[in-house]
Amino acid sequence: MKTDVVLIGSGIMSSTLGAMLKSLKPDLEIQLFEVADEPAQEASKGWNNAGTGHAGICELSYTPEMEADGTVDVSKAISVFEEFEYSLQFWAWGARNGLLKSTRDYINPVPHISLVHTREQIPYLQARFDGLKAHHFFAPMEHSTDRDTIRSWAPLLVEGRDEDQPVAATRMMGGTDVNFGEISRNYCEWLDAQPDCATHFGTRVVDLNRSGKGWRVTVRDEQSGERRDVEAGFVFIGAGGGSLPLLQKSGIPEARGYGGFPIGGQWMITDNPEVVEKHTAKVYGQALGAAPTMAVPHLDTRIIDGKKYLLFGPYAAWTGKFLHVGGSHLDLPTSIRPHNIASLMQVGIHNLDLVKYLVEQGLQSKDKRMKELYNFYPAAREEDWKVIDAGIRVQAIKKVPGEAPGIVHYGTEVLTSADRTISALLGASPGASISTKVMLECIQRCLPGLLESPESQARMKEMIPNWDEDLKAAENRGRYEELHTAAQSALQLV
Ligand SMILES: Cc1cc2nc3c(=O)[nH]c(=O)nc-3n(C[C@H](O)[C@H](O)[C@H](O)COP(=O)(O)OP(=O)(O)OC[C@H]3O[C@@H](n4cnc5c(N)ncnc54)[C@H](O)[C@@H]3O)c2cc1C
Repeated sequence: MKTDVVLIGSGIMSSTLGAMLKSLKPDLEIQLFEVADEPAQEASKGWNNAGTGHAGICELSYTPEMEADGTVDVSKAISVFEEFEYSLQFWAWGARNGLLKSTRDYINPVPHISLVHTREQIPYLQARFDGLKAHHFFAPMEHSTDRDTIRSWAPLLVEGRDEDQPVAATRMMGGTDVNFGEISRNYCEWLDAQPDCATHFGTRVVDLNRSGKGWRVTVRDEQSGERRDVEAGFVFIGAGGGSLPLLQKSGIPEARGYGGFPIGGQWMITDNPEVVEKHTAKVYGQALGAAPTMAVPHLDTRIIDGKKYLLFGPYAAWTGKFLHVGGSHLDLPTSIRPHNIASLMQVGIHNLDLVKYLVEQGLQSKDKRMKELYNFYPAAREEDWKVIDAGIRVQAIKKVPGEAPGIVHYGTEVLTSADRTISALLGASPGASISTKVMLECIQRCLPGLLESPESQARMKEMIPNWDEDLKAAENRGRYEELHTAAQSALQLV
């Protein structure tokens, strides 16, 4: 088989790239291969992530510290908001043009709240609020230290809380709960129905070799064991936890030195209607102790398959697996190569607190887990909550010049070969929320020819109207409001 593009994986990254490429150039031939029998069964699946449309509104990890002058640097939160806007715009276009079906299945309006509950954190939240409120993205944000006001926003945060304990919160309407698995499923179905395109489930990519100016991708049918080769001009490895082993198979020099460090996760969830109906918000707090930034606790409304739940967590856990479906405890040891063994060992040595934290978290009793929940919902009852598995994040580990070796970087890395014929996504943060921006950048870097003509640029302008605009600039406030309102309306978020 010969094709223009091979996409590996059917999560939010590969499926977004497929939808974007085919919409941009309708005569492109695209083949998508997924080892699972259904789309998006790993990190992008509804229950495997928190479904927060990360827009920098409530996540205190993007604005971690107060400066000596009492201000908080909010630039990262502003960037994340703008990156998420790319997704909102592309989803809105997808909703208007039949790529995405029923909006309520994949996106729902849920206010985003930040909560602090210690005397030391109160001035920090005020300074963060002052910094954010000054920017037009965050103009609708509210701040309060008044219990009654916070109770009216989210009663569970105040119910049963010690009267002497100070609380402060910010709230912004316009936050979202997103089912990234549903978006991936919609994109895969749409792509499969397009001419010269197909999605292949139950099909594992087992090898990647250079062939002519492109790649020979070897795939194996998981049922019959039959193998076949596919020749492609461009390959995108969007295999989530499976990306690192495939990158290593490709042998591109850019992958040298990279290692993967898996962090498992768990949630506590409840579907007790009495509890669930009292809370409609995503409430984020601050990271505790050695908790990695992605393990910052939050109490979230989730809407999955039309049903509302509350989710709390994540609780991190030690694992050697890179994937849930078809992953193995040997994933971590077999990813070790002479060129990455030093980085991996240094991670263990230099991040002992993190390793200890992961092991402890995994062994935690339900009692201990409830204690963390009481920080958010002091009157929670243990019998309402059950523990479920969340997705696995495989953190990309690399040596950064000038930094102590072994520092774990939690960013999302897109690795591309020098000849731009293969690209892979490693890491998972901020993740699914910024998939549109990340995939647009992948097209700009690897397939710039697709955006050269005035016609294709105009097409991209229809798909992502802000793709060549700076919506965060003060002078573009009006334009931002116009585009944002239109997207909210198309996605029925108003
Ligand atoms: C606990 C947790 C909470 C999170 N919360 C959020 C959140 O609130 N908001 C947010 O924006 N992001 C969140 N994320 C991050 C987000 O889930 C990920 O960034 C995103 O889903 C990654 O998508 P992906 O397409 O790269 O990978 P995946 O969704 O993992 O998809 C990879 C696919 O590739 C397939 N695959 C693997 N190997 C092969 C192979 N050899 N051949 C064929 N197919 C293969 C897999 O089966 C899988 O379907 C969270 C992640 C975790 C783990």
